[in-house]
Amino acid sequence: DTQDYDREVESICPFCGVGCQVSLRVKDDKVVYVEGINGPANEGRLCVKGRFGFDYINHDHRLTKPLIRKEGAPKGLNVDPANPLTHFREATWDEALDYAANGLAKLRDTYGGDAVSGFGSAKCTNEEAYLFQKLIRTGFGHNNVDHCTRLCHASSVSALLENVGSGAVTATFNEIENADVAIVIGSNPIENHPVAATYFKQFTKRGGKLIVMDPRGTSLSRFATHMLQFKPGGDVSMLNAIMHVIAEEGLTDDAYIAKHTENWEAMREHLKAFPPEDMAEICGIPAETLRETARTFAAGKAGMIFWGMGISQHVHGTDNSRCLISLALMTGNVGRSGTGLHPLRGQNNVQGASDAGLIPMFLPDYKSVKDPAVLAEFSAEWGVDNLSDQPGLTVVEIMDAVHDGRIKGMYILGENPAMSDPDITHVREALERMEFLVSQDIFLTETASYADVVLPAAAFAEKTGTVSNTNRQVQMGRPAVPPPDEAKEDWWITVELAKRLGLDWTYTHPSEVFAEMGRLMPSLNNITWSRLEAQNAVTYPSLSPEDPGQAVVFGDGFPRANKRARFTPAAILPPAELPDADYPMVLTTGRQLEHWHTGSMTRRATVLDAIEPEANCSMNPKTLREMGVEPGDMVRLTTRRGSIEVMVRADYGVAENMVFLPFAYVEAAANMLTNPALDPYGKIAEMKFAAVKVERT
Ligand code: SF4
Repeated sequence: DTQDYDREVESICPFCGVGCQVSLRVKDDKVVYVEGINGPANEGRLCVKGRFGFDYINHDHRLTKPLIRKEGAPKGLNVDPANPLTHFREATWDEALDYAANGLAKLRDTYGGDAVSGFGSAKCTNEEAYLFQKLIRTGFGHNNVDHCTRLCHASSVSALLENVGSGAVTATFNEIENADVAIVIGSNPIENHPVAATYFKQFTKRGGKLIVMDPRGTSLSRFATHMLQFKPGGDVSMLNAIMHVIAEEGLTDDAYIAKHTENWEAMREHLKAFPPEDMAEICGIPAETLRETARTFAAGKAGMIFWGMGISQHVHGTDNSRCLISLALMTGNVGRSGTGLHPLRGQNNVQGASDAGLIPMFLPDYKSVKDPAVLAEFSAEWGVDNLSDQPGLTVVEIMDAVHDGRIKGMYILGENPAMSDPDITHVREALERMEFLVSQDIFLTETASYADVVLPAAAFAEKTGTVSNTNRQVQMGRPAVPPPDEAKEDWWITVELAKRLGLDWTYTHPSEVFAEMGRLMPSLNNITWSRLEAQNAVTYPSLSPEDPGQAVVFGDGFPRANKRARFTPAAILPPAELPDADYPMVLTTGRQLEHWHTGSMTRRATVLDAIEPEANCSMNPKTLREMGVEPGDMVRLTTRRGSIEVMVRADYGVAENMVFLPFAYVEAAANMLTNPALDPYGKIAEMKFAAVKVERT
């Protein structure tokens, strides 16, 4: 009964980067129903995850007491999350925190601070992300701290910082209301950013021209005026060909280029090498379609470009984003209403966690660890003298460093690398060989099953704190129910650990952390805790205490030394691993509407698990017929890194030489197969392309 509740609490959906505001309806201290409310990103709308995906917080598997591994208990996936006491014993908070801090301090004192690294989480609040990176940086004196942004939009941010001067979006996705043309590339928003997709659909209903580009046909293509189903890995050739046409046919916005950009002449020269007639074979799109697409985008009065992991998760991910930035710049499509560059963020706080400094090369607000003035500023505010000026290791590099003995232990907060990272056999071996591992989470995840100590955390509906969505909107999350039994909010656990590691921390509430962030992060100017409590959301930058924030930025110049954005040419770089006789097809991975990342939450959500209960992959029906495989049969997928068996579905959207594999299922874990080869700039792995063999089982 949707009317039968005691109270309602306004908060933020814990899943995707859209950041829908929700009203949590509570009865007898239990969330019983969720409604969308009028947030700036969702205007009352919710998708199936936001509306029905909340009851994982009541699941029997919730961690309710600190756990310490029993003497001699084997590490690994042999622990049943329903019965962790086979391998762990319960402990008091004092005992568990002392044990965790002593274990990490022993590694620090024996091997040096850089023997301990940290993964924070994009599912935690801004304050928790900030505290986590501060603990690693000041407690251990290095920058080996990262989180899932590395596997999400690290390459996009790398290209944006390089060429635009800021890693965040230049316009909210809602600005598509003011556009007349838009490109959505390497993204499946109807499944992965469903509420944002509703704005895209409304845009086409008003007559907006929607250009969808993806190797996999997605349901958004039903709304598209142009659908370019390019060959996997053919993105740079396709985008360069489109830009070639715009330059060759004089469709550029010359006034904008002259006023706001640099390096255009080099770019124009570079593009001469990519005529559509030469690129058609490489990218799989006919030359005339490339020309028509270029003319359509350039003819728009206001155009936006949206992209997702289909663009970013490649060894040439940064080059892909460089092309998209150049395409927007050459057509004058940044800085006005209805224009913009928008990498759609994955997790609900991946923008905020990155802003808060949970990345190894930047302190909060992307201030370089190599800048002496920045180090002086943070040292003074934090009262320390041990900040490192060396960029730290990234997610994949940290696991490599465990293998080669440089890193001996980790503090992992809310991340599940035993499922989410590429080549998880390698990752699980690293987790097993660590001398000491602290895991902090709401469930005994696959990663926590390797830990020496497990600290039970509060879920989103049980905690206070701010999160920042893909639109740069800082929003207030509020607790609706208490955490189960002895579980605690992540910020509290990190503070207690820090104290035991010798840090002089006195925080008693997230608002104090937010105030400290405000002193160090200009992006938070005019955004105060009390303002967020009153208004729920403020978009940054906010120019005054009354300004709701700027939906579109950079109309008056870019945050680079000369105020100009830069064109950076991109050459064609092949995928790290091409199909061959042994592995003749292409594997690509992604998400499904109902399941979220490693499945730890959504597979424990009753409705979502009922709708999509089984591990699956998708292949083209023609390929299945040729193999003599029926939809619903099991197939074996094998790459150079591993093999899984999984049920196959027929999908005409998947190209004949491709397999699409969601990564939420532990019983058929996609990352057993993925390629850890890295983009050299963003250090993101090529999870969108691996050579694979498919066999009937
Ligand atoms: Fe939650 Fe994203 Fe769905 Fe909104 S679109 S309800 S933020 S999962």
